[in-house]
Amino acid sequence: MIEKTELRSLLPHELKEILKENGIEAYRAGQILSWLEKGAASFQEMTNLSKPLREKLDSIFRLDNMAEVESLVSKIDGTTKYLFTLPDGEYVESVLLSYKHGYSVCLSTQVGCKMGCRFCASTKAGFCRQLSAGEILLQMVEITRDKRRLDPEFRIGHVVLMGIGEPLDNYDNVIRFLKLANAKELFGIGYRNISLSTCGLIPQIRKLMQEELPITLSISLHASNSALRSDLMPINRRYPLWELMEVCREYTLVTGRRISFEYAVIAGVNDTSERVKELIGLLGGWMNHLNLIPVNPTKETDFQPGDRKKMEAFAKELQKGGINATIRRTLGADIEAACGQLRREKQLQ
Ligand code: SF4
Repeated sequence: MIEKTELRSLLPHELKEILKENGIEAYRAGQILSWLEKGAASFQEMTNLSKPLREKLDSIFRLDNMAEVESLVSKIDGTTKYLFTLPDGEYVESVLLSYKHGYSVCLSTQVGCKMGCRFCASTKAGFCRQLSAGEILLQMVEITRDKRRLDPEFRIGHVVLMGIGEPLDNYDNVIRFLKLANAKELFGIGYRNISLSTCGLIPQIRKLMQEELPITLSISLHASNSALRSDLMPINRRYPLWELMEVCREYTLVTGRRISFEYAVIAGVNDTSERVKELIGLLGGWMNHLNLIPVNPTKETDFQPGDRKKMEAFAKELQKGGINATIRRTLGADIEAACGQLRREKQLQ
């Protein structure tokens, strides 16, 4: 039996080529992609295509879908957290965040994660499999479909790859996803409105800087020295902090883009005055931004975010030292919006 091509992972020009090879006019690609963006789950729903054409498409392409298992809406700020199930029964999570400048989605790139960061629920049951580019995109499709039921004008404006998984550990599919999300026939998200967060896979960061995609690179830093970082994030034993900082500086020189560093503040662990000095040493004098985020307490660790005043004082000390540091607003505090928690609960049931 000939294996069908996964439709959702195809870039517009690739779809056109396959249609042409099968004797179908190239302009049909635009119609098909517009249905995919609208959330069509089967060719049968593409009612402006003739029945014989729909049947032909069905014989060439595979159209994978996800089902929403659960969605939690924050009563505080409207943040919506989704748990989806994939055709093979695995779960992924996505979050929709509402800002003054529009809607942003935080997407998963893998089922589980190999990286083992101590403060993260996504990695607790290990790695299961990679998501295809189409499956990453499908999270946007499902969220759009859900929200358009109430608001037909709903549009996603920003994409953040900071959900379950390490995006650069699924390099080819993630790069393909970025191009899909940017395609005007689909969501048309500008690259400048896309952020990719990594725990620091150095070879892949080097590769990414050659892609000429003007996205924002975020580095999950979380520690100001190598010993502490190795303790919190095992990846640091493979790619130590000094080497990571070197490649980050190189990234800003090659791309001209500022790097954003994420720092989950853990009371008594990485928020002392000694840490302030170390952070100034690491980040002072070059183009970057430091995002301070209160750590999300998970059931598996006793890490606590500490109080707001202490965090503000920590931020102030950093700013005094010339660091461009801000405290990120916590959204969805009442629905456990940290990545991996819903999936983890499902696994433990
Ligand atoms: S923080 Fe990111 S890289 Fe680290 S374990 Fe969690 S999902 Fe993986």
